[in-house]
Amino acid sequence: MKRLSHRARCMQPSPTLKVSALAKKMMKEGIEVINFGVGEPDFNTPEYIKQSAKQAIDNNYTRYTPSAGIPELKQAIIRKFQRDNGLNYEAENILVSPGAKASLINVLMTVCDPRDEVVIPTPSWVSYESQVWLCDAHPELLEATMSNNFKITAAQLSAKVKTLSNPKVLILNSPNNPTGMVYSREELQSIGEVCLENDMIILSDEIYEKLIYDGNQHISIASLSRELQDNTVVVNGVSKAYAMTGWRLGYMAGPEAIVKKASEIQSHTTSCVNSITQRACVTALDEDDGSVEKMRQEFSRRRDFMCSGLNGIAHVNCVKPQGAFYIMPDVSWYLENNQRGITSSEELCQYLLTNYHLALVAGSAFRAEGFVRFSYANSLDNIRKGIEWFDQGLQSLLKKS
Ligand code: PMP
Ligand code: GLU
Repeated sequence: MKRLSHRARCMQPSPTLKVSALAKKMMKEGIEVINFGVGEPDFNTPEYIKQSAKQAIDNNYTRYTPSAGIPELKQAIIRKFQRDNGLNYEAENILVSPGAKASLINVLMTVCDPRDEVVIPTPSWVSYESQVWLCDAHPELLEATMSNNFKITAAQLSAKVKTLSNPKVLILNSPNNPTGMVYSREELQSIGEVCLENDMIILSDEIYEKLIYDGNQHISIASLSRELQDNTVVVNGVSKAYAMTGWRLGYMAGPEAIVKKASEIQSHTTSCVNSITQRACVTALDEDDGSVEKMRQEFSRRRDFMCSGLNGIAHVNCVKPQGAFYIMPDVSWYLENNQRGITSSEELCQYLLTNYHLALVAGSAFRAEGFVRFSYANSLDNIRKGIEWFDQGLQSLLKKS
């Protein structure tokens, strides 16, 4: 279609949001679907946060706010970085945006020129690549293998960068969506050194920071040295930690020069985040009624159950995730050995949704063909039943239809 831009013609809808919409549509039609597709907590937003929003409405806190975020929220974010990450920022280093998704594209729009290269370790969350394309920059994928626990190494990054013409940004995501892997301090240190040597900006997506298990610790790469802090933009938000996906608030902290320009861009695109959400987020960050920890513990139980259930299925393997709420089993044996001509993870997910009413996301959406992603933001009962259906679905592939 001639009227559409090249940019628009290249876009595909977010596969995670698409599968979730399809599962919800089937449920509306009365079909019992187990939805492991979407990455959003199934808990309600904690009461103390909701009360704060109600109060904001009653106080008529309903007007435009400063584009970069209300001063009280910026201060709460500064306190959060000090408390959780040992990072010191000023108000000029903070920008509040409508979701971490918006924070990420704001950074990319601010730093990328056409043909700049953005290194994305894979498996990777679905939107990074599309966002890079939207900025007319070039995604450069770097595979983190299952044998290395889905983590890239500094040596791999260094070798990759040598092949590039304009390496500009590395996107890091720990804890990771879709693998649940968490980078250690030492791993981050050596990756950071490669970025500094090559003058690359680190875009560190830390949205799953609060969901981390088995005593693993979240380390922000920006906290490892002053130099790294000056070369990193940290992105975080409230969607996952506080079960606030629909409220739409994310934030970034980074060098003033980048944040200032990102704020100017935002002033022309979305103006500001919903004023009520901003007030509620001051409360979310400053207070704590124990809900975040309760949700984390529940996710941890589900992860244990899900991991042992999936690993109990013949020819299915998964690495135990250390964080987030995803698990990504290797199902390649069934793609190679089935009797139904199913050769891709996408076809497998389509088959499982149609015939076994299981909503999963194909590994290919994360550049991890041969895998499927489960989000275990679902009840233990559903997880139990879902694993059974998954097993039945896979075994059915071995019989001719
Ligand atoms: N980063 C990652 C890795 C995610 O999984 C998500 C989930 N949507 C986001 C960023 C964006 O989160 P939100 O826009 O809801 O803050
Ligand atoms: N990040 C979540 C997921 O991966 C939510 C959907 C999205 O924004 O992509 O499923």
